[in-house]
Amino acid sequence: PHADPETGAAVKAADRAHVFHSWSAQGLIDPLAVAGAEGAYFWDYDGNRYLDFTSGLVYTNIGYQHPRVVAAIQEQAARMTTFAPAFAIDVRSEAARLIAERTPGDLDKIFFTNGGAEAVENAARMARLHTGRPKIMSAYRSYHGATSTAINLTGDPRRWASDTASAGVVRFWAPFLYRSPFHAENEAQECERALRHLEDTIAFEGPQSIAAIILETVPGTAGIMTPPPGYLPGVREICDRYGIVLVLDEVMAGFGRTGAWFAAEHYGVAPDLLTFAKGVNSGYVPLGGVAISAEIAATFDKRPYPGGLTYSGHPLACAAAVATIRAMEEEKVVERAAHLGEHVLGPGLRELAERHPSVGEVRGLGAFWALDLVRNKETREPLVPYNATGEANAPMAAFGAACKKNGLWPFINMNRTHAVPACNITEAEAKEGLAAFDAALAVADEYTV
Ligand code: PLP
Repeated sequence: PHADPETGAAVKAADRAHVFHSWSAQGLIDPLAVAGAEGAYFWDYDGNRYLDFTSGLVYTNIGYQHPRVVAAIQEQAARMTTFAPAFAIDVRSEAARLIAERTPGDLDKIFFTNGGAEAVENAARMARLHTGRPKIMSAYRSYHGATSTAINLTGDPRRWASDTASAGVVRFWAPFLYRSPFHAENEAQECERALRHLEDTIAFEGPQSIAAIILETVPGTAGIMTPPPGYLPGVREICDRYGIVLVLDEVMAGFGRTGAWFAAEHYGVAPDLLTFAKGVNSGYVPLGGVAISAEIAATFDKRPYPGGLTYSGHPLACAAAVATIRAMEEEKVVERAAHLGEHVLGPGLRELAERHPSVGEVRGLGAFWALDLVRNKETREPLVPYNATGEANAPMAAFGAACKKNGLWPFINMNRTHAVPACNITEAEAKEGLAAFDAALAVADEYTV
């Protein structure tokens, strides 16, 4: 495309006339017209270039326009652009094998979807059919997608408008020491109380009515709350005791984001079902799926699985996944994300927290970090109220504008900013991001008391 302001204005005008945007009041938005993207950066038509600290919606784990993946998509398009899901297709078989080999435990069968929400829908369906039980438990402070079941399993305000179909969903509090729902004073206490709360909730709901517990291994959009060490093994043990299916949602945390292929590895747990999307092929072509344990897969050995999608295992998406996984392997992208977390982003963000009164907590791992911004470090009062809009959200809006002025495109949710760049950014690029944060946090500091 011609990267001149006139073309940009035409792109924007057609968008405003005809594109209906997600999660937005259509008359109040002003989307940036993007002319191109490469690696960790994108640019507009007016000559502004941004370091993307959002990875899109936390999915371009290998950055934009990775040449090997682009070539694989082009080659697949020339060879076989599409084919229906009932057939065995080379790239589909290979993508399933590469994914199954990397998932924890005995998750050896892959059901492909077009994205994360559909993966969650199908995981819920599988768990209900496998157990013959109706309810699914999910955590407040979670996001699982925007389709009917997935949005009802979600624990953030995006659910509220769709709360009409929440039959069979039971929500509970997962651990989050910094804003402890259990008034705990340390991680061990938070872990123990969160497990007791979960078990009490199960007892009062009736264990025989619960098909599954779904948790993001490390909750993403809700704030990158790394769970205390014993929590997930504890949940695994509770699930085993009551015959409840454990679903780990790794749509955001999977495929290198946390410095492991899957975040479950950090906590020594294997779920019965694992949902993935995003990083599986960095979103170059829409793809998601469910990795299924041997026991649940066996439920559907003789009995048909009552679910499917026209584009399940789409050859272009699968070719992109095969190329992405191979590139990640050869270029050590997972190891690079781990290194980034331990040696660059983690220490760098903690150093910012020491100097800036607006940073209440830094948490995360790999290329997956959150800054919890506060009005006051002592009281931990969030920099803006929960779900704030308009004037009430001014401090976060000012922080975001300052990031952009300094060449960084920020991820902002409530009172948090997340540092979630491509997992393979260089140390110099990460430091450029930290410097932009440093300048923008000075603006956030002005709102502290
Ligand atoms: N699950 C998690 C943990 C996510 O972060 C998301 C999206 O952000 C989803 C599910 C939904 O995925 P999609 O938007 O591809 O439907």
